[in-house]
Formats: sequence, C-alpha cells, structure tokens
Amino acid sequence: MTALPTDEHAVGALQALVRIPTVSDRDPARVDTDAFERLLAELARQFPLLHERLEVSRVGTHGLLAHWAGASTERPVVLMAHLDVVPVDTDAPWQHDPFGGEVHDSPVGPAIWGRGTLDDKGCVVGICTAVEQLLEAGHVPAQDVWLSFGCDEEVSGPAALEAVGVLRERGVTPWLVLDEGGAIAGGAFPGVKAPLGVIGVTEKGTTSLELVAEGRGGHASTPAPNGPTARIARAILRMEKSPFPASAPAPTLELMRRLAPHVPLPLRPLLSRADRMAPVVTRALLAAGPEAAAMTRTTVATTTLSGSPALNVIASTARAGLNIRVMVGDTVAGVVEHVRKAVADDSIRIEVVESGEPSPVSPMDEPFELLEDCIGAVFPDAVATPYVMMAATDSRHFTAISEHVYRFAPFRMTKAQREAIHSYDEHLGVADLLDGVRWYALLIERLPS
Ligand SMILES: [Zn+2]
Repeated sequence: MTALPTDEHAVGALQALVRIPTVSDRDPARVDTDAFERLLAELARQFPLLHERLEVSRVGTHGLLAHWAGASTERPVVLMAHLDVVPVDTDAPWQHDPFGGEVHDSPVGPAIWGRGTLDDKGCVVGICTAVEQLLEAGHVPAQDVWLSFGCDEEVSGPAALEAVGVLRERGVTPWLVLDEGGAIAGGAFPGVKAPLGVIGVTEKGTTSLELVAEGRGGHASTPAPNGPTARIARAILRMEKSPFPASAPAPTLELMRRLAPHVPLPLRPLLSRADRMAPVVTRALLAAGPEAAAMTRTTVATTTLSGSPALNVIASTARAGLNIRVMVGDTVAGVVEHVRKAVADDSIRIEVVESGEPSPVSPMDEPFELLEDCIGAVFPDAVATPYVMMAATDSRHFTAISEHVYRFAPFRMTKAQREAIHSYDEHLGVADLLDGVRWYALLIERLPS
C-alpha cells in the first residue's frame, strides 16, 4: 500500500468535511440542506474511485448506502458512520474555529480541530480512505462490504432505519455491523496505564416518560394542599429514593476480567474472578461514582419541569420529564411499572414520550474476534474488551437484521478528547487518524473467505 500521498489525502479530506457545517436538527425546516448537499459533493470529489466502483445510493434525506461487491455474498459486512454533527455553542471557549478544520498542535501532537473530527467525520474519512486505497490497489474484498452513512444520527432520525429497510429488501443479513461507539481509550480506568480498546456489544435503550398531575388550579391567594405541583415534587423525590436494582451485566464482568492483569495488585484477585464475584463487583461499581454506577443499572434523570406559567397562578397541570436509560435485561414496560410503583400515586399519569429498548448483547464469537485481532495489530498496547455503551448509536436499528452489531471507532482518544465530544475543543490527532485508516483497511483485508 502506498503510504504518504494517501495519508496526506486523509487529513485533507477530514479538514474539508469539517469545514462544511452539517448540523442536524429534529425540525427539518431548520436543517441547512445545502450544507449536506455540499458534503456529499465533497465526498464524491475526495473519494472518486469509491463513487465510481461502488453502487452508491441515497437513504433518508442525505444519507448514503454503498455496496462494494466482494468475492462472496455469504458474510456481508456493514461499516457505519454518520455525516451530521451536533451544533456548536457559540459561547464555548473553542481554541480554534470549530468549523475551520485547522491543523494545530495538541497534547496528542498535531491534530485536526473542529466539530465532528471525533464524532463522526473521522470515521467517515477513515472508512472511505481505506476503501479508496484498497480500490487503488485492485483489492477485491472476500465478502460484500456495505457502507452506511446516516445524516440524522444526532437527532435519532430515520435514515439508518431506511438503510436497514433497503438491506432487508435485498436479503442482506450482515455477518458484522460496525458503528461508532468505543475507541482506543486512554485513562479510562483508574490505575490502568494501558489504553482500552472498548468495543460496545450492546447499548442502553433511551426512554422518556412524563409524569403529569392535574388539579383545579386557581388564584395563588387561596391555595389548597396537595396540588399538582406538590404531587409532582413528591413523585420526583420518591423516584430518587427508588433506584433500579443494580447488577453487573456479562459484558461488564468480562471487561473487569480482562482488566485484571493491568490493575494495581490488590485489585487483581477480585477482577480476575469477576464472573464469580458479580455482587461484589456491582457494589464496587456503585460506590465508584455516577459514571461507574450507570454501568450497573437503569438510570433515571429528572430533566424537564413545568407548572404554573405565572407567579400568582396555581398550576392546573404540573409535569416532570424523566429521561431513562434502560439497562440490558430491563424492558420499557418493566421501567414504567417500576416508576408507577415508586411514585405510588394513582392521580399521577405516566405518559411514554419516547420508547427505546436496550439492544441485545452481540456475542463474542468470530466477528468480535476479528475486531480484536485488528486492534491487536494496529494498537498493540491496547487491551481489547467488550463493554456496555451508555449512549445510543444508529447501529441499534441494525440489531433487527444482524446478531453481530459492534460499536468501535479505531482512534486513540484521551479522556480530554472524549469529553470534547458534543462539547468544545473536539480534535483528532493526525497520526491517530492515519492509524484509524490502517485499521479499517486491515479489517477489510482480513475478512474471512
Ligand atoms: Zn456520533
């Protein structure tokens, strides 16, 4: 494979994509469709062979689905990424223009700065550059390769669902689906020096409920006890006092077991037997702060609140929004039942605003092992491991047509870089982008025949 020219090409391509602000929005009227059109045109300009040799079609408003015919159609592979980004808070102290795509120094060396470098245009460029390089070299993949790039991931839009529909129609049952999610994560676990190559094997479901209390309302000078606002407040406190039961799911226990050789000595015996010490591991995670605790159970956050519109009016309706992340093993129906019992107030209505079940756990068999092998080859210092993703990705829709759905972006990311996602100062190291290109190319080259 030719090294330098294409390497520089990947950097230039990412810069070009970052400069086009493809911000998605739940309201289609607020989407800059011209930006998405320009992005698709830029992709065609940057990756001409891909667009010439693959069968490329549109899905959703501006999503892409591309088919690269391999030697066999038996074990098709889907490589996913998304073209849209979240908006930039103009008050946030970005060190460099968020839509400038500039290369500047950073704690990880020279880096490409801007919104979408990590989430998720880096993956778009990584995948496309790898495909372009392999096409240039005359490579024919052992299996059919599909590229699925959504345009509305950040707003849970329908493009990915549509791609799933097309694949279903064409009778494609993917042997492996790979989307964003995990990474080569540095500083992920206290006391562990090695970066973790975390591969999401499942993701929590996102569900939103509203608690609604109604009453007569009226003038604030003659209040009656137990009005809608008071009942909503009591319900929220009761929810807070009734957390969901905790237990460490299998992927979390496997993560602990794989970490064992890398943690400080006193922790090793516990972690190496994590599968047999699940209750102890669960308690330890619960005690280790909100992030670790979220790995063990369904979480509930009270988010929106509303009551009276005026200071001198008693609310006739009070509402509280609950954003719930449903743990593998729980269901939305079970969650609603738990909330009903915890609130223990028949006068409060529970409305399901958004219903998302957790994704099934993908097995750690051959496709997973292929990802692990490629991590070992490109990132020899990393510990590859499964984990439960807390956030949602487009790949959840693909669990309808494939048992093997994994979430991993082949980029090194420090803790600070991970925190920059959806925040400010998002940047991807130049060398890390190139490692990512190598990783995707290796994955395609190693597809089993
Ligand atoms: Zn993303």
